Amino acid sequence: MELSDKENIIYWAKRLYERQMSPSTSGNISIKTNQGILITASGTCACDLEKDDIVLIDYNGNLVEGNKKPSSEKIMHCEIYTKRDDIGAIIHCHCPVICAYCVAGVPMKAPILPDFAVLYDEIPIVPYYCPSTIELAQVIGEYFEDGYSAVLLKNHGIVLGANDLKSAFYQLDLIRAYAETCFGAEILGGAKPISKKEVQELRMLYRKK
Ligand SMILES: [Zn+2]
Repeated sequence: MELSDKENIIYWAKRLYERQMSPSTSGNISIKTNQGILITASGTCACDLEKDDIVLIDYNGNLVEGNKKPSSEKIMHCEIYTKRDDIGAIIHCHCPVICAYCVAGVPMKAPILPDFAVLYDEIPIVPYYCPSTIELAQVIGEYFEDGYSAVLLKNHGIVLGANDLKSAFYQLDLIRAYAETCFGAEILGGAKPISKKEVQELRMLYRKK
């Protein structure tokens, strides 16, 4: 069964919540449509999302359709879509295990797991700016313009963009798994990285698939 755009957002939002990646009313999700950007409304919880909690905005963040206030981070979403044509869906969340990196100021770049190493050289940390501000949106936009599709926000959370929502969720889940693995490995004496040569081999292999 084909899901409508709003049903699609609700479907993946629930999975995000179930994986403990979006606590309480933090975080927001959007997708690009022919009409504009569909984005979750302010103060909504990923677990309890209903169709009315998703509103349509234009690329300047103005409300086009819906009765609720769009997410306060709407400008960040607009900025990313404006900078990157290839991105069709964005998830911003405050996943606790990922936020540990954000608050410690540690970027994710250890090539310790093949699936992570194939996708990412580094998930950098954007300097701290007050959430929901234009300044934060602009600096995130610059990182995406430079080619990053996932960035950590200092003392805040993570933003990830992908072709579609399913792919965004899968990548975010991978990043969460990376974070949890690193924490576990620390207890066991620290993670041992894969060599650069091995990473190159992996990327060649995955590209052939
Ligand atoms: Zn946030």
